[in-house]
Amino acid sequence: MDIIDTLNDLPPYMLQLIKLSIWLVILAAIFTPLERLFALHPRKIFRKAILTDIGYYFLTNLALSTLLSIPVALLARTVHHFIPAAFFAAVASLPLWSRVLAAFIVGDVGFYWGHRWSHEIPLLWRFHAIHHSAEHVDYLVNTRAHPIDMVFTRFCGLVPLYLLGLAQPNAGGGALALIIILVGTVWGFFIHSNVKWRFGPLEWIIATPAFHHWHHTNDGPHVIDKNYAATLPWIDKLFGTMYLPKDKQPETYGIAQPLSPLLFNQLVEPFFFWRGPITSWPEPAPPPGPQTTAKPAEIQAATTADIISLDK
Ligand SMILES: [Zn+2]
Ligand SMILES: [Zn+2]
Repeated sequence: MDIIDTLNDLPPYMLQLIKLSIWLVILAAIFTPLERLFALHPRKIFRKAILTDIGYYFLTNLALSTLLSIPVALLARTVHHFIPAAFFAAVASLPLWSRVLAAFIVGDVGFYWGHRWSHEIPLLWRFHAIHHSAEHVDYLVNTRAHPIDMVFTRFCGLVPLYLLGLAQPNAGGGALALIIILVGTVWGFFIHSNVKWRFGPLEWIIATPAFHHWHHTNDGPHVIDKNYAATLPWIDKLFGTMYLPKDKQPETYGIAQPLSPLLFNQLVEPFFFWRGPITSWPEPAPPPGPQTTAKPAEIQAATTADIISLDK
């Protein structure tokens, strides 16, 4: 009883910190042994940048609901202003299973496009680059995200839910939006985990570590900007961005531009517009064979053009 009383007396943010610490211990207890036993890329437990990623774990989890609540409240009010109440009533009367299924699908389509725009639009890429700066991908990298990037992609996932009346601020409809975010976050830890497991045909139905690790690779220009979906890979198939070879796994991760290892510096880096774009992928190696006989100046011109065309 004393412990419960003490916990109840704590300020809400302290209670939240304690809960997050307990969840971190649970996550570590699940994933650390799995990543030791079935490692795709063997690493030390206390690998490079682990403290930064733990910092992101607390920051993103503490900030997400507060930051997201503002645009979501605006979205809900706007939608209800323009769409007739009869439409929402009709959607609410559908069986729960059909609403949950539809919410997962349209939610992931929204996330897919939010994520894809974060790669294709230079301003959004500045913030999303923080997530891709991880050189070691494991479960903790799931939370390495700039708050602006995280809010934007989550918000894109919620827009179709609100537009279609699958999430509504009244009648407990917001619960479905919460469930979608929660399942996406939990699944996110799994798809980032450093495990070599393959799942055969299942990999085309639900996102797996192999699917998302290809999203993080910088193995070469032919494998970048693939696999944007959070949970449903066939959305990438539908929009032509799927890459999932059967018997190959990515070798290297990260972006070309080295970022400061310090969390604070990473949070402010996207705002330094005067430093130019954040470079995404490394300069491709000069092609082998007869083409290497080109003069150095020609090779330089070709690679520079490649870099410009790849630059986010
Ligand atoms: Zn990405
Ligand atoms: Zn990721």
